[in-house]
Amino acid sequence: MSDKKTPVVIAKGDGIGPEITDATLRILEAAGAAIEPTFIEIGEKVYRSGNTSGIPAEAWDALIETGVFLKAPITTPQGGGYKSLNVTIRKSMGLYANVRPAFTLKPWIPSPFPDMDMVIIRENEEDLYAGIEHRQTTDVFQCLKLISIPGTEKIVRYAFDYARNQGRKKVTCMVKDNIMKITDGLFADVFRRIGAEYPEIEQELMIIDIGSARLARYPDRFDVVVTLNLYGDIISDIAAEISGSVGLCGSANIGKELAMFEAIHGSAPDIAGQGIANPSGMLNGAMLMLEHIGQTDVAAKIRKAWLKTLEDGIHTADIYRAETSKQKVGTQAFADAVIERLSGIEIHAHEFRTSKPIETPEYHRPKPNKELVGVDVFLDWLPGNPEDLGKKLEAATPAPIKLKMITNRGVKVYPGGFSQTFCTDHWRCRFVHQDSNSQAYTALNFDQILALQQAIHAVGLEVIKTEHLYQFDGERGFSLGQGE
Ligand code: NAD
Repeated sequence: MSDKKTPVVIAKGDGIGPEITDATLRILEAAGAAIEPTFIEIGEKVYRSGNTSGIPAEAWDALIETGVFLKAPITTPQGGGYKSLNVTIRKSMGLYANVRPAFTLKPWIPSPFPDMDMVIIRENEEDLYAGIEHRQTTDVFQCLKLISIPGTEKIVRYAFDYARNQGRKKVTCMVKDNIMKITDGLFADVFRRIGAEYPEIEQELMIIDIGSARLARYPDRFDVVVTLNLYGDIISDIAAEISGSVGLCGSANIGKELAMFEAIHGSAPDIAGQGIANPSGMLNGAMLMLEHIGQTDVAAKIRKAWLKTLEDGIHTADIYRAETSKQKVGTQAFADAVIERLSGIEIHAHEFRTSKPIETPEYHRPKPNKELVGVDVFLDWLPGNPEDLGKKLEAATPAPIKLKMITNRGVKVYPGGFSQTFCTDHWRCRFVHQDSNSQAYTALNFDQILALQQAIHAVGLEVIKTEHLYQFDGERGFSLGQGE
């Protein structure tokens, strides 16, 4: 145990937040956690004072200076343009890894999976959560899925380092690269490439649909799972639910300079102030924090005392079952029971996890030869015969550019196509310059793309968006249309 106290920022949050934080801090103190707390006010009160982010400027300063944040759940007021505080903190502070252990506590908490003990490592900053959405036509709305090489390398390496540090045996990567070959394909490629540096760890790649199904049916076959933001959001809730312990799980949000720890449940306003909330989720968040700051022995001691409390049948109302529980207790009495069981607990070296810090890797940006070879021009055009649109565009297209195809919601409708294909008012028209013999793409310049748009505009068609088509070191950086 270290004598030097580690400064940590703590927010007691809203609803049951203050009760479960107080209970958690009492246990930490009794266990000898060497922390020096600074308390900050975030959440409902701050929102209501007119700050739409829910976090005041001075709180940011404390977080940046300290780098460790234990956060109780907060209430996000409905409506009024209030931003999710969690998303704001994660993205502003670069908390790229969301680490969510999900384990069974059978027989104390009923679950059909006695041996489940997995950790889901979810990418936390990218994917559809960039929040870039547009309504483009009367019919069609879009949300951009952004996946980056540095973002993917960080999370995949984190998952492998985590597995290595914790002595875990297998890392499973879940993607949908059979459909999203470029974005999810990148995630899978990075997993294979970085995975080669960790030969002692078993590795598997799964398509997210069958992966989620297997996870729900055979959770005990999984160890560490790494995946993209949206899939991770969904499967971590599935995992928590089937572990039978949603209210008991904690999570860590890890960045290069700051890490935030919390319970996965919300502020439970329905039971706030009654002294009956279960502090275990917050306590598990705090144990992850102690491991992060190197106090793994204290974390292990608390984990043992907490498990012993559950084993002794001392349960809060949410997990109390007449058949398995012995005593129904409130928040503070549960904390007292954990504290009582701390004395006499011995921890052996093999029982606590290593505290070796996981370094965020430096990104070495490759320098590919990037070549502009075409453009997808998106049009708002009332559903009609694609032949008419195709002929009109071909007549307007300035040489040497050629119209390659038109798709509607990704399916090719010109040239060729099926009359059965349902069309909206959203048309993607692909223009390229290809060598007529080899079909190799030939470079274009930006002026040619602008001239093309001018020509399309001049014949009365409405351009809603363009997307340039690039080759990187001669490799196509864009997907083909379905049927192209
Ligand atoms: P919730 O998790 O707060 O509550 C769902 C149910 O679980 C309620 O019946 C509640 O009483 C119970 N519950 C939750 N935690 C418990 C505990 N520790 N002990 C005993 N019972 C517990 O979810 P919700 O009702 O959908 O959301 C309430 C508020 O929390 C909302 O304002 C929401 O935005 C916010 N929220 C915050 C976070 C966070 O800060 N990380 C996460 C989720 C929801």
